[in-house]
Amino acid sequence: MRVAAIIAAGGKGARLGGDRPKQLLDIGGRTILEHSVGAFLRSSRVDELVVVLPRELASRPIEALVRLDVGKPLRVVAGGPRRQDSVARGFDAVGPESDVIVVHDAARPFVSEALIARTIDAAARFGAAVAALPASDTVKQAAPDAHAGEELPVVQSTLPRDTIYLAQTPQAFQRRVLADAIALGRRGVEATDEAWLAERAGHTVRLVPGDRQNVKITTAEDLDVARASRLGPGGLRIGLGYDLHRLAAGRPLWLGGVRLPHPRGLMGHSDADAVCHALTDAILGAAAAGDIGQHFPDTDPAWKDASSVDLLKRAMRLVRSKGYQLVNVDIVVLAEQPVLAPHLPAMTACLAGALEIDPGAIGIKGKTGEGIGEVGRGEAIAVHAVALLAACNSPYQRRS
Ligand code: MG
Repeated sequence: MRVAAIIAAGGKGARLGGDRPKQLLDIGGRTILEHSVGAFLRSSRVDELVVVLPRELASRPIEALVRLDVGKPLRVVAGGPRRQDSVARGFDAVGPESDVIVVHDAARPFVSEALIARTIDAAARFGAAVAALPASDTVKQAAPDAHAGEELPVVQSTLPRDTIYLAQTPQAFQRRVLADAIALGRRGVEATDEAWLAERAGHTVRLVPGDRQNVKITTAEDLDVARASRLGPGGLRIGLGYDLHRLAAGRPLWLGGVRLPHPRGLMGHSDADAVCHALTDAILGAAAAGDIGQHFPDTDPAWKDASSVDLLKRAMRLVRSKGYQLVNVDIVVLAEQPVLAPHLPAMTACLAGALEIDPGAIGIKGKTGEGIGEVGRGEAIAVHAVALLAACNSPYQRRS
């Protein structure tokens, strides 16, 4: 038995907003499209793939697909205005020798190989099969209030829950069944999935147990939850930062955004605030978002005499835009002189303001170099920092 997969990714994903098409948004370092296509590339049951993309994406090589190890025939075709048009165009591109065709929404990136296999097996046996979940909530049928102006709908009836199933994809069909379904769609019948067209074409459609992990990414909240779920326990990420600057006479000494009274200060391109630098690297590192030198290169005049607190704020904005919140940070400052303890509360307050977190989430302490090494001889100040980030919707995220 030869099996083809049609991955429907022809939509614009307008509900998610943003300037990138939904299928190219990132979850855990791979696009939604890569996750979905990758599952079918890995499936030993699938022999060929047709990926249906919006016309503007289909005409150029998609980085997401180029990165995948394509070990089987894969065609990219341009989709149509509606989902059913896109699947129909995908069907036209399927090789003539495929017996079973499985259709999947790219917006369900966590489809498992087991679910793909059981949908294909059921379709091979019965003609058409859809992954579906039994409804766990009580189902109400409702209608808008007939009296104008009331936005809350009115319940018309309560459906017996044990007869209600929520259809997912994959949906698999013997070739002749899908051909009938698509022919009906081409004659003007509208449907939100291919199984519906197959039913109306007179075919029996079976339900196979779906998978609660096989979520559809529709809203920004779906995306946040999906990202958190891909990041390991609780969606937590840790980062490490380190910095060292030489001490020199005649320079102001800035540490943690505070100017300390001291005859010598740190040398550097900016204000040389090693606490802010180490912390910036820890925060960027936790998000695997590069480092301070990459984002704020000292060869760029834009950052000459830049406030390091400002760089820290910029790094924090960057990781927030990737869907993370800061949980806590911890910092060790290695300095022989000056004595840091009296200044730690001011540094904590400054960093808490810059990072927009509670001062209680900031640990900072001083250590001397015991008179040895570059720190102990008073030649340099060094800083170690760690930062913990949580993905939005992680149970560890900061409540604000
Ligand atoms: Mg530095």
